[in-house]
Amino acid sequence: MALLRSYVSGRWHTPQDAGRPLHDAATGEEVARISATGVDMAAALDHGRRTGGPALRELTFHQRAALLKALASELREHREELYQLSLRTGATLGDSKFDIDGGIGVLFAYGSKGRRELPNDTVYVDGAVEPLGKGGTFLGQHIATPLRGVAVQINAFNFPVWGPLEKFAPAFLAGVPSLVKPASQTAYLTERLVRLIVDSGLLPEGTLQLVCGSAGDLLDHVTEQDLVSFTGSADTAQRLRTHPAVVRGAVRFNAEADSLNLSVLGPDAKPGTTEFDLFVKQLVTEMTVKAGQKCTAIRRAFVPAELADDVAAAAAERLARVTVGNPASEGVRMGALASLEQREEVRRSLKALLDAGSVVSGDPERVDVVDADAERGAFVSPVLLRAADPERAEPHEVEAFGPVSTLLPYTSTEQVIELAARGKGSLVGSVVTGDAEFARELVLGVAPWHGRLLVLDAEDAKESTGHGSPLPALVHGGPGRAGGGEELAGIRGVLHHMQRTAVQASPTVLGAVTNRWVPGAPRQEGEHPFRKSLAELKVGDTVVAGPRTVTQEDVDHFAEFTGDTFYAHTDEAAARENPLFGGIVAHGYLVVSFAAGLFVSPEPGPVLANYGLENLRFLTPVKPGDSLTVTLTAKQITPRVDADYGEVRWDADVTNGEGESVAKYDVLTLVAKEQRQ
Ligand code: NDP
Repeated sequence: MALLRSYVSGRWHTPQDAGRPLHDAATGEEVARISATGVDMAAALDHGRRTGGPALRELTFHQRAALLKALASELREHREELYQLSLRTGATLGDSKFDIDGGIGVLFAYGSKGRRELPNDTVYVDGAVEPLGKGGTFLGQHIATPLRGVAVQINAFNFPVWGPLEKFAPAFLAGVPSLVKPASQTAYLTERLVRLIVDSGLLPEGTLQLVCGSAGDLLDHVTEQDLVSFTGSADTAQRLRTHPAVVRGAVRFNAEADSLNLSVLGPDAKPGTTEFDLFVKQLVTEMTVKAGQKCTAIRRAFVPAELADDVAAAAAERLARVTVGNPASEGVRMGALASLEQREEVRRSLKALLDAGSVVSGDPERVDVVDADAERGAFVSPVLLRAADPERAEPHEVEAFGPVSTLLPYTSTEQVIELAARGKGSLVGSVVTGDAEFARELVLGVAPWHGRLLVLDAEDAKESTGHGSPLPALVHGGPGRAGGGEELAGIRGVLHHMQRTAVQASPTVLGAVTNRWVPGAPRQEGEHPFRKSLAELKVGDTVVAGPRTVTQEDVDHFAEFTGDTFYAHTDEAAARENPLFGGIVAHGYLVVSFAAGLFVSPEPGPVLANYGLENLRFLTPVKPGDSLTVTLTAKQITPRVDADYGEVRWDADVTNGEGESVAKYDVLTLVAKEQRQ
């Protein structure tokens, strides 16, 4: 039987003993054996720090993003192989897509976000320059740089592909190597994934390592620059969070643990409404996808007391149609739990929940299965319970990590908000209602206990990604019992792997550190910067153009030509009464247009397009007779990795005859990398 290997210190390590068996969740057959005996954890971490980290830090964010995208495309080619192996975890094809396609989707999302939202550089500039002195020679700027350690990623058994990839992608983009430790039960699928990644040859060596088997003394060797990200049970999270090495080094620790997620049906959603149907359908989906082994699944379903009978009947009817059995068989909707141990765990939790409620649908003891042996495979029936008293402790405390949910009747909005808090912090909640006011009250009432909230109604249902799907752009994590951590959330998840540092310095030094021009830093005037390709252009290259006098005729003409005849530009008497202007003023857009007319270099050249303005502010009114001068300075240069042009951000400062700024903004252009012949 296959003995799983670890990929550490640049090679595949074969365990030095026979390992312990891992069983097919549906058939009970042995799938593989696992052991981490002989893995030198300290050496693996060191390899990540010494080999993977430096290689990654040499790449810009855009180069790392391009590798993530290439990796996603490569893995997509191998999906079938992963789906096949995934069957052995008890997952149906639909479940596997959730795990495998979802994981590949995270790589694509970070590949794309990295190029759109991060600079083509190795330093991240966080927020605006802070002036710290009156003279403009002393400034502050927050920057973020990658931690010099390894991101240790300890994953749960339920998402052997998505779990590692959703942690790896932001770490890689940040410039931090990963060491992945999958949960033993389903590690054979993660091992196959890592094998595909290593074989692709796309990633620099040391940026992804794998430990199959027990973590052993791994955490003893983490130091201040490492991170630990954990998904699994609250008990283990607590143990690892307080590990002496983690505490000693103030190691960044992110936990994502089990939680008692809720879904609330609004009082407006009576039988026959779209929202009623959406609620019932979503509840059943969340109970049965991955056989309910999802940290985001709905455990507490709150329904208005007067609708409880209707919801119970509709859900029971849907659940009765769920076929349980061999995940490989046609027509099977729900496969097996990941292991017989998990089934024991679910049965134990169900017993506790039954003390507080009665069964609406399903059988806690037995289940009919298709093409499988109900006892050898880790099968259970989906079980929907109903609590007579929603104030009972059990439904708010006991999580059965399987296809189990409890209906809880509520009688007022205040009550449901109070009961929501009894879960002590959750990953996700959903509110299903067609009443926007109720939605607002609920969202604001329960948000402090949640990392993510979905409000489902007839308007968004068609496009909704559903209660249980964490999304790369949105926070995955939750307060309190849910672990207190945050994953994904777009670039926030990247920054989690970086150190934010406030740098205080002169404009010249800040410009050099951040590769951006900052106000007060030197400018170079010479050849018009619009005549320069990206290869020739330097940050600080400047053109000063003007002056041009704004006349009354210009203002009249602009008003008539554009149709913007607002009184401040056209009616002297009315304009005089305006407390801000005290007379006719030029249109702001006239000022911006004149500035463009001043700084433009009209002949064909490397500038390809103007694609927008940002941060435009009109600071001082411009009156007829004022003269305008514009200073345009190359502020940031971002060559694209996949095109022969890139972006240039220009600082534009339009001043009047007294030297006061009348308008400030950034001009965004696309410029060719080389001179066009
Ligand atoms: P565990 O917390 O036991 O395991 C999670 C991960 O931690 C696994 O990779 C496990 O490895 C590892 N681990 C366990 N002990 C240590 C340790 N001392 N040092 C380092 N790593 C360690 O959770 P389970 O997978 O057993 O699931 C138990 C319960 O957790 C479920 O019933 C459910 O309630 C909850 N859960 C929550 C999930 C979520 O996504 N939030 C997902 C899965 C489970 P190994 O497998 O090798 O022991």
